[in-house]
Amino acid sequence: MTAGGLLGEEHHITVVDQADASYLCGANPLLVVGKRPREGVTRSFSTLAEHGVELVRDEILAIDLDARRVQTTRRDLPFDYLVVALGAVYDWGAVPGSADAGSFYDHAHSVALREAVGRFEGGTVVVAVSGVPYKCPPAPLEAALILEWHFRQRGVPAEIHLCIPEPAPLAVAGPETAKRMADLLVSRGVVLHTQATVTSLDDSGRRVHLSDGSTLDADLSIVVPVHRAPAVVVEADLTMGMPWVPVDPQTLETRAAPGVFAVGDVNSIPIGGERALPKAGVFASAQGRLVAEVIASRILGTSPPAPYDGAGSCFLHLSGEEVAEVGGVFLAPGGPQVGLGDPRPASFKVRWEADWQRFEV
Ligand SMILES: Cc1cc2nc3c(=O)[nH]c(=O)nc-3n(C[C@H](O)[C@H](O)[C@H](O)COP(=O)(O)OP(=O)(O)OC[C@H]3O[C@@H](n4cnc5c(N)ncnc54)[C@H](O)[C@@H]3O)c2cc1C
Repeated sequence: MTAGGLLGEEHHITVVDQADASYLCGANPLLVVGKRPREGVTRSFSTLAEHGVELVRDEILAIDLDARRVQTTRRDLPFDYLVVALGAVYDWGAVPGSADAGSFYDHAHSVALREAVGRFEGGTVVVAVSGVPYKCPPAPLEAALILEWHFRQRGVPAEIHLCIPEPAPLAVAGPETAKRMADLLVSRGVVLHTQATVTSLDDSGRRVHLSDGSTLDADLSIVVPVHRAPAVVVEADLTMGMPWVPVDPQTLETRAAPGVFAVGDVNSIPIGGERALPKAGVFASAQGRLVAEVIASRILGTSPPAPYDGAGSCFLHLSGEEVAEVGGVFLAPGGPQVGLGDPRPASFKVRWEADWQRFEV
């Protein structure tokens, strides 16, 4: 067995994570309506050991780019190459009153929201994003559609308002896809507020104030929190004064230090204009694979892989019964080539989740 698959056994690969399993946030909107197990969908990191990788379950306290060491609570790990994949953290304090609202952006909030949705007897539901960037821009659209489907099935009268920062839903995919998505939301009775983020909530989450100056009265408010780079990444100055880690878009090597790479939510990759590649697991996975090839090619002196292309797609639930694939190539020459596929049975997503649990996607 080789270390990780690309390198020989003389090379040592260590994965440090404070958790012992990876958690599939993409299942949260269905968990909230009782269509996924309460404990969520996870996959254990223990599989990594089968590939010659050492797994250290510990918290990373500091990254020293000059000394090229990672300090955890129990270990001091020197590195020749480092891949930073620490994700994004949520700043629940950034929007006053959001502690009184529901959310589906982590497991604990999703479980609490599941209870609130179960108790909901009807009225106005507000799903509101706090700002950009946020993970998986289709997720709030999906949550609104799943809630509409769920309440309709149960005969619970609900008017759903969806507040997003973008000028249109799936705006990154171009005007045609954005119009299709907006038409779908409107046809399902979802009231869409564009270029409107939640700035504060009061009256125990029952009044939602938006950046466009309007206020919505809500019987159930649901927020997408403000996202930030983890403190340990900022303290290491991997962000170089910016909100996220700047990287070479072709190799994902950080601007801060050679041989140090950043993949997934923690980085920021420009895709034209002011826009950045969306934060999504499908990109985190592909970037991880590419960085492995870049590092192996440098160690072995072989040709580097083709530059990163920002390709990826994921399923967007249109209800509990149907999904559509959204995605494409975000770093295509001339700008993102992204679209929304036709509806397919939800069993496609169920199969994808099973593949994800086996580390096959
Ligand atoms: C509701 C929702 C729905 C989504 N749906 C989709 C979807 O359908 N498709 C899709 O592609 N993406 C989806 N996403 C986005 C996806 O979950 C993230 O983009 C993806 O998890 C990012 O991967 P990552 O490895 O960068 O970060 P993470 O998955 O957050 O992993 C970071 C890891 O770092 C560890 N860590 C952090 N800090 C430390 C520390 N100091 N010490 C040790 N370990 C640490 C954590 O334990 C964690 O294991 C969704 C997200 C949400 C919230």
